[in-house]
Amino acid sequence: MHDVIIVGSGPAGLTAAIYTARANLSPLMIEGSQAGGQLTLTTDVENFPGFPRGIMGPQLIQDMRAQAERFGTVFQTADVTKVDLSRRPFAVTINDEDTVHARSLIISTGASANLLGLDSESRLLGHGVSTCATCDGFFFREQPIAVIGGGDSAMEEATFLTKFASQVTIIHRRDKLRASKIMQDKAMKNEKILFRWNSMVEEVLGDDVVTGLRLRDNVTNDTATLDCKGVFVAIGHTPNTHIFRGQIEMDANGYIRTSHGTATSVPGVFAAGDVQDPHYRQAITAAGTGCMAAMDAERFLEAEG
Ligand code: NAP
Repeated sequence: MHDVIIVGSGPAGLTAAIYTARANLSPLMIEGSQAGGQLTLTTDVENFPGFPRGIMGPQLIQDMRAQAERFGTVFQTADVTKVDLSRRPFAVTINDEDTVHARSLIISTGASANLLGLDSESRLLGHGVSTCATCDGFFFREQPIAVIGGGDSAMEEATFLTKFASQVTIIHRRDKLRASKIMQDKAMKNEKILFRWNSMVEEVLGDDVVTGLRLRDNVTNDTATLDCKGVFVAIGHTPNTHIFRGQIEMDANGYIRTSHGTATSVPGVFAAGDVQDPHYRQAITAAGTGCMAAMDAERFLEAEG
């Protein structure tokens, strides 16, 4: 029996671990298969306060983990495969084998950026391929950039990236955007943004860093090369919430609903980070809500005696 189990080990979960461990709650953290979360897939992080010269994403996670460990967090590198939130203590099944119990639960399983699924894309992730304009746009000052997608995220990222890029090309697989009218208009009015319609990315080009894209026109079947130094994949995110489905309130896209801080629809279950945040998706906002979840869990346990 644990006072707190934290599921997910990105900045939200690790911050919750630091706070709950320092509150003597001996948290158990179940790290998940992508231990450390999305930061482990990035290179330089320049916008996390406290690192004036920037820090590598994996290093930041390693440091947070060491800090959580120092105060007594117990880590289990495994996946949660099942939960039962219908009664307390909550039952958490790990790797389909062991079941552990918790008086409170912090869900920080994050969201995964959807990717195109190309080998070249995963090889160059963090080396020109990115899923976060706010995080990485700054690295492409005065360079040509491509943004993949036709939804609001793609329009928002492309518009934001014009602050840095010499030119932004939006590559969309159809000839109609999915984005809302207002976001479309904004992007279309921007002189730095060009559109490549009916186009699919076949390959991200470059050995160590991105140099361009090979595109296929899905109407004419022609291929073409587009020179660019940055590729931002903006084809949506999927919150990692499938194991909680049907047991906790979520929005239409599967993000966990929170209110009054990090409280979910199940008393004693708190959610922090991208799993409950389709808007900001930053390491620092995830860490902030991780702190909130830890304090919310501590108060809940205190109130429960
Ligand atoms: P989305 O609306 O699902 O759009 C995803 C886009 O990516 C679509 O245009 C889709 O093409 C394309 N796509 C999907 N899979 C692809 C693939 N394998 N290859 C190429 N293209 C692919 O996702 P989103 O833009 O991230 O938005 C998610 C939600 O957040 C939406 O409800 C959106 O309104 C909201 N949002 C709002 C704002 C805002 O208001 N400021 C900003 C961002 C997001 P198709 O169109 O052909 O399906």
